[in-house]
Amino acid sequence: MAQYGGQPIFILPEGALRTSGKDAQRNNIAAAKAVAESVRTTLGPRGMDKMMVDDLGDIVITNDGATIVEEMNIEHPAAKMIVEVAKTQDDEVGDGTTSAVVLAGSLLNNAEDLLDKNVHPTIIARGYRMAAAKADDILNDIGKRVTIDDDDQLTRIATTAMTGKGAESSKEQLAELAVNAIKQVSEKKGDSYEADLDNVKVEKKQGGSVADSELIQGIIIDKERVHSGMPKSLNNANIALLDSAVEIKETETDAKIQITDPSQLESFVAQEEKQIKAMVDSIADSGATVLFCQKGIDDLAQHFLAKKGILAVRRVKKSDMSKLSKATGAKIVTNIKELEDSDLGYAALVEEKKISGDEMIFVSGCKNPKAVSILVRGGTEHVVDEVERAMHDALGGVAAAIENGKIVAGGGSPEIELARKLREYAETVGGREQLAINAFSDAVEVIPRTLAESAGMDAIDMLVELRAKHEAGETDMGIMVMEAKVGDMWKAGVVEPLLIKTQAVKSASEATEMILRIDDVISTTNKGGSGMPPGGGGMPPEGMGMM
Ligand code: ADP
Ligand code: MG
Repeated sequence: MAQYGGQPIFILPEGALRTSGKDAQRNNIAAAKAVAESVRTTLGPRGMDKMMVDDLGDIVITNDGATIVEEMNIEHPAAKMIVEVAKTQDDEVGDGTTSAVVLAGSLLNNAEDLLDKNVHPTIIARGYRMAAAKADDILNDIGKRVTIDDDDQLTRIATTAMTGKGAESSKEQLAELAVNAIKQVSEKKGDSYEADLDNVKVEKKQGGSVADSELIQGIIIDKERVHSGMPKSLNNANIALLDSAVEIKETETDAKIQITDPSQLESFVAQEEKQIKAMVDSIADSGATVLFCQKGIDDLAQHFLAKKGILAVRRVKKSDMSKLSKATGAKIVTNIKELEDSDLGYAALVEEKKISGDEMIFVSGCKNPKAVSILVRGGTEHVVDEVERAMHDALGGVAAAIENGKIVAGGGSPEIELARKLREYAETVGGREQLAINAFSDAVEVIPRTLAESAGMDAIDMLVELRAKHEAGETDMGIMVMEAKVGDMWKAGVVEPLLIKTQAVKSASEATEMILRIDDVISTTNKGGSGMPPGGGGMPPEGMGMM
């Protein structure tokens, strides 16, 4: 706090907290490292799970980095930046979240060592940035080409992504579902493919076993038909998609209708009925046999639709409407009167099925659908949840490989190679930045080190052995975690998309740099962030100045 002639000068609001210089830096690094440390033991196929219990008693058991850091409800601002690393990784790739977070923690840890040696944070940040840029080149060199037709490699990616998750028992089958789903929705754009994860709908339903999970060439909607008089299943369905209500519009203003004698009421009701009937007629006239409506369907309209033998579903989510459109080829129409035959989509079968006691609508057998669904099953709620997350990782991994067209072996082999090449690069840079680049390359080895630890191997011995092998040109050697030995990761079939690695390096180093550059933390919320100096934890009473 500034002082003038012994008088403190207040420039911040009462209750504001401030830490600056080394304290702020150490504080931030410690908080960010703590987050990374908390997920470290979950890395890899032998990683452990975390059980998270929230204040309502809801339990989440998971091995997924992004889920863990999100469920932790982290408040510390620097720690939140690590949560962002996981989120970015999840958004950009869909897998590799634990690796990205662990890498960020390791980068910070090694930066801290350099700070202890009085290397200035901006030098470290600069060295880290140089290393990150070089790492991208190196990883791209390590990456091997893969095509959308290479089912074997794509399946290995999916299997690798699911190894060690709740999906273990049926992972081959689930891997096949993931590969087929992504291939189905991939679209060729120029020389490359676009694989949008949004076009694979993963619907989970507790019950049955994981092996009952299936891929549907179409969309599953977690709804039931609106009227029991409607057909339960329809073959060769012509599907209409409507994003407006099948109801008489309420008058905009609060209009009152004065009715003076009963015949007026009758004609008013008859008029309404006529309008509703006209709406249903235009749906039927288009040739539609199935209707998905994003809004409501009037009771009377339901009755008329049922009489026409049309299967209708109401209040379908907007996101599901666009998936239905992509799957069936139907156009989403707003004006019922304009609905035409050419707007309709097709599915070989639309069927209401009871899955574990809940009705769901299956729109299946679509012709070359650009959106598909995977129904995930599993014995208990926690199993389906974790299988769904494993499926998410597998889908993300396969999509990333198809889009980016490059893959690497896993098991820490690319990280060992990356570290080795970065050390060579550091030599050419020299100066203090060299120290930072070397710190960066050591940090990257946290991945094989952690994998070795999880397999119960001696991490130091392992690193020495792996470094020597890579030096001798055996660049695919990594840690066969399940067998607890060093081996060729390509031969072991442990394959990952290159994007997992490049994205993890990018987000982890960016977050680290940002944290390193902060030397002043000013918190004007009178709550104060956790991890702040003593007194910052609770809610200081009103009017109490913090010194
Ligand atoms: P993330 O959230 O980072 O994807 P995971 O728990 O999925 O974390 O672990 C990924 C790491 O485990 C990667 O480095 C990957 O290469 C490695 N891995 C996965 N399967 C195997 C395996 N069978 N043998 C060795 N390493 C593996
Ligand atoms: Mg993974």
